Amino acid sequence: MCPATAFIGVGSNLGDRLEYCREAFALLQSHDEIRLKAVSALYETVPVDFLGQDRFYNAVFEIETRLSPEALLEYCQEVERGLGKEILRPKGPRTLDLDILFFQDQVCRAPRLTLPHPEIAKRAFVLAPLSELAPDLIHPDFSASIQTLLERLPEAQRKGVKKQLEPGWESEDAPGGLQA
Ligand code: ADP
Ligand code: MG
Repeated sequence: MCPATAFIGVGSNLGDRLEYCREAFALLQSHDEIRLKAVSALYETVPVDFLGQDRFYNAVFEIETRLSPEALLEYCQEVERGLGKEILRPKGPRTLDLDILFFQDQVCRAPRLTLPHPEIAKRAFVLAPLSELAPDLIHPDFSASIQTLLERLPEAQRKGVKKQLEPGWESEDAPGGLQA
């Protein structure tokens, strides 16, 4: 079986946000069945659903994996727990959030695993980093590319997303090593 390509969104707005995002990268990378293919820049983003909280750091990883989508979700949740995922309230502050944005071209509506992730088209903090890695990827629910979906968002939302660090994330090792 060929490995599947998937995109994973990472977010953190509690504690050492950069360190949590780096750790998420390292723990994904350390799995035998996951190969990191590309990393977006790291963005600082204003919260959208619950406004009374600190800014997030967000990025997107492109991976190749032989895991099933369910097994990948389980591993992402293990990584979240391992990094002390602490959610103070739904859509509120968290140390680390890993969302499977796309898994190949799979469409799945189960609440435990919805693919593509249901909020992609509304979120500049997902579309901006994802558009660096896959601008022409077509979102099946909208028959539109990631670039087009980003351009369709109101400017006010796009302005809430600022590139903070280039894809190397100013690290001497991963994720910078990936780009070499
Ligand atoms: P948030 O919606 O803020 O990301 P959580 O990270 O706690 O909140 O996720 C809530 C639930 O979303 C998880 O229990 C998970 O099973 C479910 N879920 C559904 N689809 C996905 C997906 N594509 N990626 C990650 N989690 C998902
Ligand atoms: Mg999540």
